[in-house]
Amino acid sequence: MRLSQSVVGGKEADAVRHVLCEDGYLGMGAATMRFENELAEYLGVKPWQVITCNSGTASLHLAVLAAVARFSSRGTLPVQPAILVPSLTFVASFQAVLAGGCEPVACDVLPDTGTLDLADAEARLNENVIAVMHVDYASNPWHLDSVYEFGQKHGLAVIDDAAHAFGCEHHSRRIGSFGDLVCFSFDGIKNITCGEGGCLIAFDPQSAQVAADARLLGVEGDTARRFAGGRTWEPDVRLPGLRYHLSNIMAAIGSEQLKRLEPEFAPARRKLYKLYSDLLCAVPDVELLRTDPEDYIIPHIMPIRILNGKKDKVKSALQCNDVPVGTHYRPCHLLTLFGAGAVSLPHAEQLYGELVTLPLHPLLCRDDVTRICDIIKNTLA
Ligand SMILES: *Cc1c(COP(=O)(O)O)cnc(C)c1O
Repeated sequence: MRLSQSVVGGKEADAVRHVLCEDGYLGMGAATMRFENELAEYLGVKPWQVITCNSGTASLHLAVLAAVARFSSRGTLPVQPAILVPSLTFVASFQAVLAGGCEPVACDVLPDTGTLDLADAEARLNENVIAVMHVDYASNPWHLDSVYEFGQKHGLAVIDDAAHAFGCEHHSRRIGSFGDLVCFSFDGIKNITCGEGGCLIAFDPQSAQVAADARLLGVEGDTARRFAGGRTWEPDVRLPGLRYHLSNIMAAIGSEQLKRLEPEFAPARRKLYKLYSDLLCAVPDVELLRTDPEDYIIPHIMPIRILNGKKDKVKSALQCNDVPVGTHYRPCHLLTLFGAGAVSLPHAEQLYGELVTLPLHPLLCRDDVTRICDIIKNTLA
């Protein structure tokens, strides 16, 4: 049994074979353009809004660069620009902020969802803050609309780290179909995978342009020329950029995965998530995270809270029975690079002491879930 797992097979292998043996161009070209068009159609946005790249972290870094460029074009950038980020996230969110030249300001989360606590974020606002990042923790958009209102009110860019939330809907709109700067990851274990990959969805043309150029070393307009089968031999470069583009090989895997998401992956993940919820909702000392309704989300991970200091007991019982468990996440404000706990964020720290992530992926079967829940019940009985 695995905690999470890529679900790939013959279809993805055929698509890669096609790129290698028929097309022969492995870099960013026709297959990448096709994948961007398919993502645009799935999300209901225009192709210019979709900027694929070689990881979710890269898409977050591009979003930060776009936020910085926007702020600079409207006024004077603070000497040390800063971005509000919930602490309960993958370290990628924090590293991307830092890579983009900004200081991550760790914010607390709501104890019942693990998502950004806006009141805490508001208390940490100062003149250096240029953006707020929201993390759709465990595929849960939750107060996302209020985050956009908050951004609007304070003149901040809003970056949605939607690495957990590809395919999810929030109030009848698909994540990635609305917002400001929305970032997805297509790493090996996410709702769909490219092997490694990611994409930024931008909602204003300037941000899309900045990000598209920045993923190709700042070579202006190189995306359009590559998609037309050419290259840029006499470039102008005005802004810093990185080597972040998605290759045809990875894009070909992504195209196949996208076709499988709604018929195959989404129902499998929802079914297992619902079974976990049904079996665990009445167990004493177990608290499920509150979330948008399960019909609207495609659950990427299954973190649960074990209350009253019993987390380690449950964790060892599962591990003794060969059930792999995870921790999402050790809060970033506790990490050495990000202050080693210099600030105290009570809810993030409380959740860190309670959260255990249970196995969840489409290849898990109902019997696995039943067995896992029995171990938890017996341990807490
Ligand atoms: C996976 C993930 C990322 C980074 O994506 P990569 O594709 O692994 O670089 C960022 N944020 C969160 C919350 C993630 O889960």
